[in-house]
Amino acid sequence: MTRLILFLLIAVHLGLSTRITFASDAGRSAVVVMYHRFGEDQFPSTNIQIEQFEEHLRILQNEDVPVLPLSHVIDRLSAGETLPDRAVAITVDDAYKSVMTEAWPRLKAAGYPMTLFVSTDMVDSASPGVLSWDDIRQLADEGMEIAHHTTSHAHLTRITPEEVVAELDRAAERFKSELGHVPALFAYPYGEASLAVREAVRAYGFKAAFGQHSGPTHAGSDFHYLPRFALNERYGETDRFRLAIGTLPIPATDISPKDMALTAANNPPQFGFTLTQRLDNSDLMNCFASHLGQVAVNRLGASRVEVRFDKPFPTGRGRINCTVPATGGGWRWIGTQFVIDPQ
Ligand SMILES: [Zn+2]
Repeated sequence: MTRLILFLLIAVHLGLSTRITFASDAGRSAVVVMYHRFGEDQFPSTNIQIEQFEEHLRILQNEDVPVLPLSHVIDRLSAGETLPDRAVAITVDDAYKSVMTEAWPRLKAAGYPMTLFVSTDMVDSASPGVLSWDDIRQLADEGMEIAHHTTSHAHLTRITPEEVVAELDRAAERFKSELGHVPALFAYPYGEASLAVREAVRAYGFKAAFGQHSGPTHAGSDFHYLPRFALNERYGETDRFRLAIGTLPIPATDISPKDMALTAANNPPQFGFTLTQRLDNSDLMNCFASHLGQVAVNRLGASRVEVRFDKPFPTGRGRINCTVPATGGGWRWIGTQFVIDPQ
């Protein structure tokens, strides 16, 4: 005991007190990034330019960022085990040929794993510019992890729970017959997930499911609605990439609304969350809504955060992101995506 007190006194004296506060953070989170197309400049909203992608890989290499297989990240975090500090996992959605021709050779050369989320109808369509099952088997043989992204890439919030299960079943059958197994990881098409869709995906037995809202994944996350930083031409510049891979979580619980699919009755939503950890600088929290820009942050007591919007989110997908300056630089981050389907 005396030794502990002495240590604390020395730590405070040396200005190390913030490190003690944040000791529980180390290795408890990871950043998952998401791409779609590589060097397909005619599709800027889903494409990353080759120069941008190569710059991302250079940053990861130069800064010795541990790039880990996504399933490893999920297994460790869900088991309460630690990861190397600043761990990153790379994911790609859909099954464009440029994954094989542009991304994979560069990732292999760097020794980086990646996970590909595949919608099976897209592969079955045998369209030009899309991977074939032979391609996917070859990539899997070379170590790429193949994951589940539904059958038809449907907007899951617009179909019935039975239809959602059918989307999962039909793709599972295709994976089973083409690859010999059914993937354990899932990504919601467009990142769109209502509460009912999330429950259906959870009940189906997936280990984890990913959206397209920004933020790091951490041990306290909902593993069936995990965030990923989407990187495209507009959001793929060096500064934003550095910012994304350096983020730490704003650990929170009781995130409201529970259902991120909004209706006329709850749009605008009453957004809020409860911090599960004391954060330095939490009084400096800023929140940004995709349709309003910066919005006021209301603190209730030490841990509850509430945000109100004076205008409904427009039809489509809407986002809210909240940030706190992290001790030692960079940002803590929490974000979510709302789905507002046409009525
Ligand atoms: Zn997709």
